[in-house]
Amino acid sequence: MKIETLKKKKLSLTNDGRLELFFIGAGSAFTKRQYQTNLLIIKGKDHVLIDCGTKCPQALSELGVPVTDISNFLITHSHADHIGGLEEVCLMGRYVTKKKPLMIVNETYQYILWDMSLRGGCAYNEEEARDMLSFSDFWTIKRPIWLPDYPRETFKVDIGEINIKMMRTKHIPDSSSDWQSSFWSCGVIIDDRIMFTSDTRYDHDLVEFYETRFDFEAIFHDCQFFTGGVHAGIEELKQFSPEIKKKMYLTHYGDNWEDFEDKVKEYGFAGLTQQQVFYVFD
Ligand SMILES: [Zn+2]
Ligand SMILES: [Zn+2]
Repeated sequence: MKIETLKKKKLSLTNDGRLELFFIGAGSAFTKRQYQTNLLIIKGKDHVLIDCGTKCPQALSELGVPVTDISNFLITHSHADHIGGLEEVCLMGRYVTKKKPLMIVNETYQYILWDMSLRGGCAYNEEEARDMLSFSDFWTIKRPIWLPDYPRETFKVDIGEINIKMMRTKHIPDSSSDWQSSFWSCGVIIDDRIMFTSDTRYDHDLVEFYETRFDFEAIFHDCQFFTGGVHAGIEELKQFSPEIKKKMYLTHYGDNWEDFEDKVKEYGFAGLTQQQVFYVFD
C-alpha cells in the first residue's frame, strides 16, 4: 500500500484499474477541522461511496465532484455524520438530474434508513403524488447477498470490479454487549484486502475473526482518544497484537489529534488516517 496526494484540482471517480481508497474526511461526527469519516472507493471505472454525512456534499463539491456524480452508495448506519448528506442526494436526483443513484442496502436497514430518517424530508414533496413517495422513487436498490458461513451477519455485493463485504458491528447503544443487541450498523471489507470498521465500539472479536480469515493489508478502525461511549478508545485499541496494530490506521478521531500523535506512534499503530489522500493498493 502506498499513499499518494491529490495532484489534480478535480478528484476523478475513475482510474487505471488499481484499488484506491480516498477518505473524504477522517474526523469525528462533530469535527470542525476536518470532514467527517466518509470513504470513497475507486477502481477502474467503478466507485462506491461509503456513507454520506452532513459535510460530504460540500467536501465533494470542493473537490470538483457534485454529489450527484456519485453513482453508488453504501450506508453503514444512521448517525447524521453518515447519512446527513443523503436528503440532498435524494432531492437533487429526483428534481434536478432526474437520476436514481444505486443504494446497496438490505431490507432491514432500508426500513431503518427510510422510515426513521429520510422519509420526513423526502416523502411529502409532491402534492399530486397519490401516495407519498417511497425509497424506491429516489434510489435504485441493490440487495447484498447474505453469506451464511460467518459467525456474525455478513453480506457481499459486487459493484463492477469492486467486491464489498458488509459485517455487522457493535456501535450503539453504549451498553450493548454484542452486535446482535446493537442497533443496525456495519463495517466493510474491500476486495478481501482491507477492512474499514466505520463506527464501532471496541470489539475484539470483530477484528480478530476477519483478520484471521483474510490477513488484511490495512485496517481502518474507528478511534476516539478517550474511553467510554459508542466509539473505540485508543487505550482499548492498544490491546490488539503488535502485528494487527502495525496495519491499523485510526479514523473518526477528534480535532485534538496533535495531542495524541506521539501516543499513536508509541502504541505501534500504523498512524492516523489522513483525509483526502489516496491509499493505493496495487
Ligand atoms: Zn460517525
Ligand atoms: Zn455513529
